Amino acid sequence: MCGVFGAFSPDGKKVLEDVYLGLYALQHRGQEAAGVAWTKSEGGISSRKGTGLVHLALDQAVLAAIESPCAVGHVRYSTTGGSEITNAQPLTASTSKCPLAVAHNGNLTNAQGLKLLLQNRGAIFHSTTDTEVILHLIAHQPHKQPLDALLDSLVRLRGAYSLAMIVGDRLVAARDPWGFRPLVLGRRDNITYVSSETCALDLVGASVVREVEPGEVVIVGKDGVDSLRLPVEPKRRFGCAFEFVYFARPDSVISGRSVYAVRKELGKRLAKRAACPGASLVTGMPDSGTIASLGYAEESGVPYEQSVVRNRYVGRTFIEPTNRVRHLGVRIKLNPITEVIKGKNVVVVDDSIVRGTTCERMISMIKTCGANQVHVRISSPPVRFPCYYGIDTPTRVELAAARMNLRQLEQEVGADSLAYITEEDLLEAIGLPEQSVCTACFSGEYMEGGEEYEPQL
Ligand code: AMP
Repeated sequence: MCGVFGAFSPDGKKVLEDVYLGLYALQHRGQEAAGVAWTKSEGGISSRKGTGLVHLALDQAVLAAIESPCAVGHVRYSTTGGSEITNAQPLTASTSKCPLAVAHNGNLTNAQGLKLLLQNRGAIFHSTTDTEVILHLIAHQPHKQPLDALLDSLVRLRGAYSLAMIVGDRLVAARDPWGFRPLVLGRRDNITYVSSETCALDLVGASVVREVEPGEVVIVGKDGVDSLRLPVEPKRRFGCAFEFVYFARPDSVISGRSVYAVRKELGKRLAKRAACPGASLVTGMPDSGTIASLGYAEESGVPYEQSVVRNRYVGRTFIEPTNRVRHLGVRIKLNPITEVIKGKNVVVVDDSIVRGTTCERMISMIKTCGANQVHVRISSPPVRFPCYYGIDTPTRVELAAARMNLRQLEQEVGADSLAYITEEDLLEAIGLPEQSVCTACFSGEYMEGGEEYEPQL
């Protein structure tokens, strides 16, 4: 997980407030830490980082006043490395070639091997995040030109990386050849932006220019925008299906496909595949299941109702200091509306089951309110395999659908019935060629070659 954003103004306009706003719109991609890095007028790079949400980690007014035409930012949700501040990004370094800043979304599958090789050459690591490998690789390349060193570093990486970087005084956007995580270019007036998602471009008033292509490196400097290709030709692409299912914001567009439209279509297909005769109402798990539940209701003709209200100010990191508060549990976040639920046969739609806790709590809450039956419909296939490409999933043994078959899981969560969509439905709803979509968390089909690849410096 994680979100990246960057901006460059060839006319020397200040861009840091835009980067702050961009991160604000990408908050859903990471809530653990946020940071920005920018070029200084006297040369070199400065950065600010903090823990927690963007508005707590960074000071908007301070950033808005800083004179810098080139900046990148990051919101973090840790997949590798812990949540301590040393792992917050962008990571910065002053190398013999030029100053660098790196903001990374994704997860490198060969970081451990590369790190060992770099350490044997004397590199000293300051964090436990895989992103630091990228900085050291660039620093260790023999080239004098920083961009040559960058390209020669990127070809050594395996796995997922969507990067917003400062290289010298230029903004660089790069995407791995497999295209795991989204990355898009935008423009307003003369300013070029790079962003994980289009929703952040909307906020800064920029229009979408195009996506950064898998394997492409885009360099934005005073002389304009340049594009280079990494000499890596993968057998197929791996655009993440889970971005459409859960992770991306519904007002974003990925590979030309509206995330909202895909989620609604997933709900419709779910209704066709797993109808629920006798249902009185369809409701969505707030907020992750809402859009798919609208699709389910539309297709099935069963009315949609909001049956649970979510306190939207409760973050992921809600602290449970006392036993009393711990026992309030899910009620702190979600409160059911008894009048809607009592005596009804309720269809609850959610986007996914990971460990199974959310689903179990939701069902028990609805049943306590006097629901007659609760039928659960999930708008993705069962998540049976961990993601190694940048989404935080638990190990296989913790994944509910890997441990149990459908009937066992149905019992475990306390549902009167439980159904998922198929992988085929998912791919059809996404509407992109099958050979360009990663479904590893559902199918276990990981990228080939990542594991056998021998790391080299
Ligand atoms: P669980 O309670 O572990 O089964 O989590 C499932 C819920 O978490 C669903 O409502 C999803 O919307 C949401 N979810 C799915 N994947 C993730 C993830 N990688 N990180 C956080 N939440 C997730």
